[in-house]
Amino acid sequence: MTPQLTQIAPVEADDLAGIMSAYTEVTERLRSSHERLAEEVARLRGELARKNQELERRSRLAALGQMAAGMAHEIRNPLGGIALYASLLVRQLSDRQEPRDMAEKIAKCVGRLDNIVNDILAFAGEIKPRKRNVLLSAIVAEASELAGGRLESTGAKLTCKIGRDLEFRADPALLVRALSNLLFNAGDAAGEGNVCLLAGERRRAVEISVRDSGPGIDKKVMDRLFNPFFTTKDMGTGLGLAIVHRIVDSHGGKIVAANDTAPEGLGGAKFTITLPIGELHT
Ligand code: ADP
Repeated sequence: MTPQLTQIAPVEADDLAGIMSAYTEVTERLRSSHERLAEEVARLRGELARKNQELERRSRLAALGQMAAGMAHEIRNPLGGIALYASLLVRQLSDRQEPRDMAEKIAKCVGRLDNIVNDILAFAGEIKPRKRNVLLSAIVAEASELAGGRLESTGAKLTCKIGRDLEFRADPALLVRALSNLLFNAGDAAGEGNVCLLAGERRRAVEISVRDSGPGIDKKVMDRLFNPFFTTKDMGTGLGLAIVHRIVDSHGGKIVAANDTAPEGLGGAKFTITLPIGELHT
């Protein structure tokens, strides 16, 4: 049987140009979608690395927290005994100035140790926020009142500015504690300078920032600020920011530390907390 030959029509120059342009277009589209995919893969890789780092940090902190809590419990009882005997001594030595001064110094040091132990327990213990509907203005007022005394003692001037007031879900006691810790630090850094708390709503979240006119944060220590026991202060415990971080975390929020370099800023450090507004209960 003779095979049937199909005759292929010769390709015209116009057709060829059309095929070439379609081919170029498809290649271009493939190239750009490949680039987009490569970018997405790089972004996801970065995110995974960040999440892994965070996970590692959390498990390291959990182990450290357990150890610190155990030690704090052991220290607490004998410390209570020393505080009790020191106060008895102060009373018994009321008519002898010099030894009484010494007993008072012991009592003061014990008070400081007690604060450290309490900070350790607050840092290591479980933080379970008891959320309710709270008003931003009330939280800010309470935190500034709580921090007011310490700020006055350093000579810092505190200004609080709230945009439109708003209601959101939070544990008021925990949040006041976090904000006052930031205000204490800002006061320590500012000395006789200025501290400013700005609060309001931003992109459907609560944003609160604490700024100061202090020296700002050295780049070298920026990524260690929130580590427990990291301090550059002679009398610091290095637990303030670690506690703030845990409180903000427990509310599903974020905290970012930076230097306030804006032209109208205060020139020192700037800590910004962002919290979800949450579902209000009626
Ligand atoms: P502490 O106050 O006991 O040192 P924190 O955890 O609150 O513990 O702070 C850790 C460190 O972070 C401080 O010792 C200081 O070096 C730095 N820091 C915190 N707040 C500020 C601030 N407003 N300006 C400059 N440095 C700050």
